Amino acid sequence: MSELSLNIINCLEKVIRNKNSFEKVALHEPYFEDTNAWRYVKECIDTGWVSSAGEWVNKFEDGISKFTGASYAVAVTNGTVGLRLALYAIGVRCGDEVLIPPLSFVATANAVSHLGATPHFVDVEKDSLGLSPIALEKRLEEIAYKKNGKVFNKVTGKRIAALIPVHVFGNPANLPELLIIANKWGIPIVEDAAEALGSWFKVSEEKIHCGLIGDIGVISFNGNKLITTGGGGVLITNNSELASKLKHLSSTAKIPHPWEFDHDEIAWNDRLPNLNAALGCAQLEVIENRLLVKKKLFDFYKNSLNHLTEIDFISGTSCLVTNNWLITLYLKFDEVSRLKTERYDLLDQAHKRNLLLRPLWKPLHKLGIYNNAPRGSLCYAENFEFRIINLPSSPQLIN
Ligand SMILES: *Cc1c(COP(=O)(O)O)cnc(C)c1O
Repeated sequence: MSELSLNIINCLEKVIRNKNSFEKVALHEPYFEDTNAWRYVKECIDTGWVSSAGEWVNKFEDGISKFTGASYAVAVTNGTVGLRLALYAIGVRCGDEVLIPPLSFVATANAVSHLGATPHFVDVEKDSLGLSPIALEKRLEEIAYKKNGKVFNKVTGKRIAALIPVHVFGNPANLPELLIIANKWGIPIVEDAAEALGSWFKVSEEKIHCGLIGDIGVISFNGNKLITTGGGGVLITNNSELASKLKHLSSTAKIPHPWEFDHDEIAWNDRLPNLNAALGCAQLEVIENRLLVKKKLFDFYKNSLNHLTEIDFISGTSCLVTNNWLITLYLKFDEVSRLKTERYDLLDQAHKRNLLLRPLWKPLHKLGIYNNAPRGSLCYAENFEFRIINLPSSPQLIN
């Protein structure tokens, strides 16, 4: 085992030794012990309100609005569906292009494809791992032109209909600067805030939650996220017109009426069931504590590993608050073959000890399904490919 792997694994075992040590330790695991989850879910079953109408759905949406400061929240069945719905609501249609970073979970690109649109990849920046404002500006100047208030790609002839910045591992992307560029061109923004519940921008004295600088933000409650509803997601926005559109489109575009079935659009059944919302409500009640524990875990890892010169931690800057969803190491080796050996050794040795560390996703433009998609230069994304390792980050590891 390399010295770096040994140091990192020793540190992980120190955190985890207090727990049942021989079990597999995944990246981020659900946890309900400090919540009323059982009681709330039982209430759904006892009353028969298990499906997508019910008080917990309303309570969950209200709770998300209150926590994030969003004027409106619309709960949906998962984050992928939420991205697709948000893109449709802001006008993305078949044949359009949507600008996205290549460093994300595949769902970001898939949501674009599900509408018959094409992802168009733009590079990321180092500090946040999110979409780079410099790369975005450069790419638009290279290939875009405006006609009748719409933006087109000169090379493909397609309309550029939206931009999806991603808050990678809970670290806020540079939305304030991305917004200036998007506004200049008139391109709407859907923020993929799937991983960013509890992450904020500080703009002068004010805190703005991730997802609320663009037109719509999408948060996921998949099993590995900060809080989970089993499967689920929520769309947040301050735009009342978009909010009612989202609600309408997520509930089969049914015109409200006590008994008539009238639908004014071909839409989806995307609403979150009451059972799942009950789970979400139970965790929202303890979210402030979760965030504190996550910060404590981050500090523990950082203090234990900071002396290692071969690594850095990816973490927010002074004008950002990150939820520390996944605690992320950056391997600094210059030489690529050494980098790849160290990366493999760390992942391999950790997995042998049931510590399920994970590398960065394969950059999306390198997946067979997206290797023909249009793109700018992606040199930063490609440079990160082998440098990023996520550590087990469940709050219950240190609780
Ligand atoms: C989890 C995640 C999604 C998708 O959310 P699901 O609820 O799993 O569909 C989208 N984008 C990113 C960046 C994610 O991490």
